[in-house]
Amino acid sequence: MNAPREIAIPVERIGRAAPALPAALPPAGGQGDGLLHDRLGRPLTDLRISVTDRCNFRCGYCMPKEVFDKDYRYLPHGALLSFEEIARLAAVFARRGVRKLRLTGGEPLLRKNIEALVAQLAALRTPAGEPLDIALTTNGSLLARKAQALAAAGLRRVTVSLDALDDAVFRRMNDVDFPVADVLAGIEAAQATGLGPVKVNMVVKRGVNDGQILPMARHFRGTGSVLRFIEYMDVGATNGWRMDEVLPSAEVVQRIAADFPLVPLEATAPGETAQRWAYADGDGEIGTISSVTRAFCHDCSRARLSTEGRLYLCLFAGQGHDLKPLLRGGAGDDVLESTIAAIWQGRADRYSELRALHAADAGLPAPRRVEMSYIGG
Ligand code: SAM
Ligand code: SF4
Ligand code: SF4
Repeated sequence: MNAPREIAIPVERIGRAAPALPAALPPAGGQGDGLLHDRLGRPLTDLRISVTDRCNFRCGYCMPKEVFDKDYRYLPHGALLSFEEIARLAAVFARRGVRKLRLTGGEPLLRKNIEALVAQLAALRTPAGEPLDIALTTNGSLLARKAQALAAAGLRRVTVSLDALDDAVFRRMNDVDFPVADVLAGIEAAQATGLGPVKVNMVVKRGVNDGQILPMARHFRGTGSVLRFIEYMDVGATNGWRMDEVLPSAEVVQRIAADFPLVPLEATAPGETAQRWAYADGDGEIGTISSVTRAFCHDCSRARLSTEGRLYLCLFAGQGHDLKPLLRGGAGDDVLESTIAAIWQGRADRYSELRALHAADAGLPAPRRVEMSYIGG
């Protein structure tokens, strides 16, 4: 029998109090672009917002069943940020340079009436009067039902996670026996309602679903959807990650190129996490996200807001900065703004770049990390 896995959540949720406020508002940027920069010069342009810590799937790499079981304590409803609180914070972030919002979770489509939040976010404007770029990451299980309402509310794009085309492999990976056909129907509904081009994210685990790389590539070639292969990451403290289960992106590219020649493409934007590859015959493109073998911390411009209002500066952070006491304690937008600025300006996180060093320190206690289902991917 396997030893029981450690349940790490309660400790991570304690978080850190927001830092003392600076006497005056820090200047926007400092690098002449009007943006906030952290200690490594990285601008804050992208905010991921987790709207629930619950999910209807039990992917082993994220919410393994033996930990996230019927006794698992999810956040009580009153602890969740309300849509108004989320929209208020998003507006403050937009004032300081954030241009992209991504709703995630847990499974974001489980949050009741999520389209009402999308509508509130779609009404926000940058200081230059531009709408924000609003996207959502979902497991696709409820997408066929929700796509139209989400598009009508102002959502622009969706990313759908799908780890296999083979029904048996997919049911094993989501571990709740969910059929692949329903996710494929969700992707089609999203394309049909203008939420495309849909990005399809496949986490590749060696020996589990790497046999699905070619079938997935074949299926999505020429459909307008962009398939992206994600290296299995050591996020959280519950998935029992091992390096030998990571299939490096270079090998994914090699396997696909053997059947369908690929040509590397230039990045379209700074901070882009995926490397892009075009099919040489012009039938679309794929992406690879190599969080383990090719760290992209040097231009990581993403902050993450947890379901209950903690700000995390890195996917691998152990602690977040709690903004809820300010939100619920009557602080004005200027105070929120200067607090967020001070937090970002103190940021020096670059976990993936340092991963090799952590591995070398294997004799030391591992740093405790927050779960991905809690802060969102
Ligand atoms: N439930 C939604 C979904 O699955 O798309 C949104 C939240 S999920 C945490 C966001 C993304 O994180 C998904 O694409 C998922 O595959 C990815 N993810 C979760 N755990 C991961 C891990 N250990 N390694 C790599 N990607 C992971
Ligand atoms: Fe749920 Fe997404 Fe995590 Fe899978 S990856 S368990 S769908 S939150
Ligand atoms: Fe960004 Fe942290 Fe990931 Fe590096 S490890 S890319 S800093 S989230």
